[in-house]
Amino acid sequence: MITLKEAMALPKEEIAALKQDLRQKIEAKKDLGAYVEQLTGSEIAEFGEGVPIAVKDNIQVKGWNVTSASNILQGYVAPYNATVIDKMLANGLAPFGRTNMDEFAMGSSTETSFYGKTRNPHNPDRVPGGSSGGSAAAVAGGIAIAALGSDTGGSIRQPAAFCGCVGMKPTYGKVSRYGLGAYSSSLDQIGPITQNVEDAAILYDIIAGHEPKDSTSVNIPHKKVSDKIDPNRKLTIAVIDNYMEEAGEEVRNAILNAIKALEDAGHKIVHKNMINSKYDVATYYIIATAEASTNLSRYDGVRYGNRAPSENLKEMYLKTRSEGFGEEVKRRILLGTFVLSSGYYDAYYIKAQKARHLIKAQFESIFEEADLIFMPVSPTPAFAFGSKKDPLEMYLSDIYTIAVNLAGLPAISLPVGTSSDGLPIGAQFVAKAFDEQTLFDGASSLENILK
Ligand code: GLN
Repeated sequence: MITLKEAMALPKEEIAALKQDLRQKIEAKKDLGAYVEQLTGSEIAEFGEGVPIAVKDNIQVKGWNVTSASNILQGYVAPYNATVIDKMLANGLAPFGRTNMDEFAMGSSTETSFYGKTRNPHNPDRVPGGSSGGSAAAVAGGIAIAALGSDTGGSIRQPAAFCGCVGMKPTYGKVSRYGLGAYSSSLDQIGPITQNVEDAAILYDIIAGHEPKDSTSVNIPHKKVSDKIDPNRKLTIAVIDNYMEEAGEEVRNAILNAIKALEDAGHKIVHKNMINSKYDVATYYIIATAEASTNLSRYDGVRYGNRAPSENLKEMYLKTRSEGFGEEVKRRILLGTFVLSSGYYDAYYIKAQKARHLIKAQFESIFEEADLIFMPVSPTPAFAFGSKKDPLEMYLSDIYTIAVNLAGLPAISLPVGTSSDGLPIGAQFVAKAFDEQTLFDGASSLENILK
């Protein structure tokens, strides 16, 4: 597939042909289920003119049926564009196709979607990762030039790693959340999923920047990074020794090889340890579910999407929410409501906020000595459908990605190897807040080394 950079250089007349070609490819690869339209048998959703970019089903595009892959939002039509969409349109890009996802971005495999399965382009029996599994499968499957995803606890980086493409999560506040279906507001960020590091930087530059309509959007001028990427810059890179113990053998070997390659290329490697990742998981699943339980209270049958036929108001709330939400979403609403309830607030929610502070502080102390941190994205390559039936087991697959969101830092995942059965293995760089330039410099260096 043509890269984003190449597509953006095409004369306007050729974009229509590009879209037509893409439509045919999407039709031919229907079984991938990367797009909601492939699963529902409908026409690819389009808006405006420009280079086609696939959009996760939780980002508002005016006139589109945007549903966060949930039953409760069936029939909802977005009345406005998310800020990222307006920015794309202003820069010659156009939303093209809704990508499948875990319901309300809750999951790590895209298995909780109302629409059904998305398959991993490298092996149809494996999950594409999640929650932005559709976006990653579309890019890796050659049926999207680039895509937008959202990352609350790894949902851009992990599916990118599972599918063998590049996924980038910006610093919290760099990309506006205006028009993003809220999961956990203090963690969510929209970001690019692309075929290579430079394309990720190009798309990031387009969607980043201040948005007055979003109180969590930082009001500092955006400095373009994609035209200044320097793969030859020598960096100090911290590797997290105790994280390697929890990784499966093939992932560990691929990461160790990449570390060796970085060192041979002249980067300085320093060895560090981080707080046991089980505390990250506990902290994340308290904060994320607490915020989700309040964010999802707006889906009550009155204002959005589906409404269950009922005799009275109370019954309408109960029936709409019982029928509309899937099992995983309900589990999280219950968990979040529990940790916020008056008897348990101090024991869980406040404690989690303190732990979050510690997690952030540990990154800051590592960044006193290092420009970047390099670590795994997931303990294993893409797993089989249905193989993580216990929700806790699924949550544990997020051990390497969620601390980054708790600390609000930028990170990028890129392919570093292949497992013995042909599945991609990814690794991620993490940078200081607002230091996306160094993030792309390091990622581009590694991408070149491994070419
Ligand atoms: N897997 C994590 C969760 O289920 C992360 C999801 C995300 O980043 N949206 O919450």
